Amino acid sequence: MKTSSFRHTYADISLRAIEENATSFKASLQTPECRLMAVVKGDGYGHGAVVAAKAALRGGATYLGVAILDEAIELREAGIDVPILVLGYTGPHALQEAIQCNITITVFSTDVRDALLQLAPTLSNPIKVHIKTDTGMGRVGLQTEEELLEVISPLAQHEMIEIEGLFTHFAEADAPTSTYTDEQFEKFLSFINALEKEGIMIPIKHCCNSAGTLFHRDKHLDMVRVGISLYGLKPDPDLRFPIKLTQAMRLYSSIVSLRTLPEGSSISYGRTHKLSEQRIVATMPIGYADGLSRALSNKGHVLFGDQHAPIIGRVCMDQTMIDATDLTDIQVGDVVEFPIDEMAQLTNTINYEIVCAISKRVPRYYD
Ligand code: PLP
Repeated sequence: MKTSSFRHTYADISLRAIEENATSFKASLQTPECRLMAVVKGDGYGHGAVVAAKAALRGGATYLGVAILDEAIELREAGIDVPILVLGYTGPHALQEAIQCNITITVFSTDVRDALLQLAPTLSNPIKVHIKTDTGMGRVGLQTEEELLEVISPLAQHEMIEIEGLFTHFAEADAPTSTYTDEQFEKFLSFINALEKEGIMIPIKHCCNSAGTLFHRDKHLDMVRVGISLYGLKPDPDLRFPIKLTQAMRLYSSIVSLRTLPEGSSISYGRTHKLSEQRIVATMPIGYADGLSRALSNKGHVLFGDQHAPIIGRVCMDQTMIDATDLTDIQVGDVVEFPIDEMAQLTNTINYEIVCAISKRVPRYYD
């Protein structure tokens, strides 16, 4: 699948890798009944939500997760009819739309509970909801048994409201020696217990993100929610994958100018790099409008095969320079790769942000 573009900057995305990663995850789950949710929010972490979702479904995912209702509607409009959960807040004004599109929403507040209760008698099909608990992430969710019962009990009594799921989110499942995830899990189990005592049985209980799924196999419960590692990226660069996963996206640009510049030449805005001797300087048509962080100025590297070349001077909006002197056989038209994990490390961020930031100006080519 190739999108036509006149650009010399592009991302290659292997949908086969996403599909195979989903298959690897599914095979690694603690029980065969455990569901795999493919998290495709943020336009499928920059990979393209619809194509990534379809690839993950081919690989064995049966549920999709997004952050906001608009993302769920995009998937429905593309003809995807599997269950979709909006992991974030869906406000009272959006409930009708969610019901119409058969989208499962997350509830963690009394405003949405009340809106649901008001709407329920008018419905001809039940609306599915998942209840979010906060066991230590400090973001959103019900924090105590009392809060949980206050929201859930009235909903559970209404036949047009199906409480399909209960979930929480781990704050540091990627920290191998931390006991915090165990503590969060214990709290989550105590919530489940409290509900069961009240006769409220929840079919899909879930708490694991990629790191949780990979490193806390005892916590898979009824479903796992896999995002970053579905795309073959590590939730933390220091971890080793315990299952076979392949990086789906590669970011490339081409050399459009290759010049020998004399000693003393300054490179790019602000003249932050000056050549201490004659060097070969190459320019690529990629910049911060493509999502290449300006923080990589005088810091990042590109790969030319197994050779490295440093970014010199400031990253501009649309163009970036490297010192290509030591690159053997480099020519105008040659393609260089921008390494995603290294870019994250050098800019003090995570690979999640790097892939999500690759802008829509960068064409995606799919295998
Ligand atoms: N579940 C929730 C609630 C999330 O917010 C996210 C992502 O931030 C995920 C699952 C997927 O996490 P990851 O990309 O680390 O697998």
